[in-house]
Amino acid sequence: MRILVIEDERQLAGHITRALARRGHCLATHFNGEDGLKAALAESPDLILLDLNLPGLDGLSVLGRLREEKSAARVLILTARSEVEHRIKGLQAGADDYLGKPFSMDELVARVEALGRRGITSTPSDWLKVADLQMDVRHRRVARAGKPIALSPREFDVLQVLMQEPGRPFSRTELCERVWQRDHEYDTRTVEIFITRLRKKVDSTFTPALIQTLRGVGYTIRIGE
Ligand code: CA
Repeated sequence: MRILVIEDERQLAGHITRALARRGHCLATHFNGEDGLKAALAESPDLILLDLNLPGLDGLSVLGRLREEKSAARVLILTARSEVEHRIKGLQAGADDYLGKPFSMDELVARVEALGRRGITSTPSDWLKVADLQMDVRHRRVARAGKPIALSPREFDVLQVLMQEPGRPFSRTELCERVWQRDHEYDTRTVEIFITRLRKKVDSTFTPALIQTLRGVGYTIRIGE
C-alpha cells in the first residue's frame, strides 16, 4: 500500500515509517498539516495516518479538506487515548478508524493492514440493491434514485455489509468486527457514528428511510413497515 504519514512527532513518525516499510508498504512522511494535505491531494495515497494534534493546519482541518476534495484515501487518525472528543470528531468528520496513543507498532501494523483489505472479503454480487438504493461493489459507487452518493471508504463498507443481507439484523459488535476486523477494543460509539453519517447521506433527503435501528439489537437495512 502507498501510505502517507502526517505526524509532527518526528521520532514517532520514524518508528511508524520503519515498522510499515518492513511490511513492504511504500511510505512518505510529512511533519505538518499543510504539507501533508498538499501531498495527500497530489499523490492519492491508499491510506493516510493522520495525527490530529498538528502545528498549523490541524488534523481535523486536513481531514475536512480531504473529504471536501473527495479523496478516496482511507484515513486512520492518531490521537491521545484521553482525547475521546477528538476521536469522535475525527470519525464524524470522515475518518475510517482511529488509534489511540500510545500504541504498539504491532497494533499499528494490524490496524493498517485491516484497513488495507478492500472492504468485505467475499462479494457475492457486483451489484446490490435495496429499494431505490444501488451499490456498484466493484467500482465502489452508490446511488439512490439515480443520484450518486459520495461515501468514505468505511461508510461504503458498513453499507455494503447491511446491503448484502437486507432485513438481517446486525449488532454493533458484529458490524464492528465485519468492517474493522477488530475483535478487541471494539467500540459501539464508532459504529453509531458511522450509521449517523450514512443516514445523513442515504436517508435524510430520500424516503423511505432504509437504515433501521432495531432497539436492543442493532441495525438493518430494509424498507420500513
Ligand atoms: Ca502531534
